[in-house]
Amino acid sequence: MQILFERVAFIGIGLIGSSMARAMRRDGTVNTIVACARRAETRETALRLKVADSVTADYAEAVKGADLVVIATPIGTNEEIAKIIAPHLKAGCVVTDVGSVKQAVVDAVAPHLPKNVHFVPGHPIAGTEHSGPESGFPELFENRWTILTPLPHTDQAAVDKVATLWRTMGAKVDVMKPGHHDMVLAITSHLPHLIAYTIVGTATDLADDLRQEVIKYSASGFRDFTRIAASDPVMWRDIFLNNKDAVLEIIQRFSEDLTALQKAIRKGDGETLETLFARTRAVRRGIIDAKQA
Ligand code: NAP
Repeated sequence: MQILFERVAFIGIGLIGSSMARAMRRDGTVNTIVACARRAETRETALRLKVADSVTADYAEAVKGADLVVIATPIGTNEEIAKIIAPHLKAGCVVTDVGSVKQAVVDAVAPHLPKNVHFVPGHPIAGTEHSGPESGFPELFENRWTILTPLPHTDQAAVDKVATLWRTMGAKVDVMKPGHHDMVLAITSHLPHLIAYTIVGTATDLADDLRQEVIKYSASGFRDFTRIAASDPVMWRDIFLNNKDAVLEIIQRFSEDLTALQKAIRKGDGETLETLFARTRAVRRGIIDAKQA
């Protein structure tokens, strides 16, 4: 495989950053990888796992001479990072990110970057509930979508290069507007996480004896919610704070639908319940057919 980017800097080398680094190494698409993280433990782990050739805690030092900069930290950190790295970016370099919300990241990062670098925001729709460099693996993106949300003036060649990098990592690539991405993800990812956090929170608040039974019989459905609700608290705090409008809009619609179901149960309206459950079962079949199960 040809080298796409000679030198890559990862700002953040957790689940997503280290998975990308592993895949890039496997594919031979990059030459040198520099990783930046706050904690010495993270940096040492990145070196031990060989997901980086060198490590630093200094954002500016990390991006010096980099042809590709990947911001892979919780999105609440992105503006500060953009401000610090901006004066140290090499002319012509590509800056990308992996944040789960796109409009807020574009607003936070783009204004600080110099005109001679190319910003290609991205979001791999792949992940697990685990965090940190040790949880990464190179196959994470295989057959999963990555959404790129370039700005209207973003250089097409830079977008194509980032798309090629993702495709080489096994991902399928779509391009869309940041606001559209945020609305789609609010329903497919953010609301399900909010529901999981709520259900697990409600169960935790129940009396002690009942809580033990909740764990004992969790295979009846609860268990799947606990996996989602085990996702990183800081990352998810930032997602809800940064996709506020879309999430509030989806919660409103969800509440209306929930109220309708509540009413159907109260009235003993089995037909409404069965019709919905049959429709949702078909959705699951569609996901399996699309190999996204
Ligand atoms: P992660 O495993 O927790 O890794 C985060 C990395 O960022 C770590 O290397 C961490 O190291 C560093 N970091 C955390 N706070 C920082 C700060 N204030 N300044 C500098 N570095 C910091 O997280 P992740 O799952 O890879 O998520 C990273 C990004 O990917 C997030 O924006 C998230 O929205 C997006 N994403 C996540 C998933 C998923 O399922 N997890 C899927 C798609 C996209 P130190 O703590 O040592 O600094």
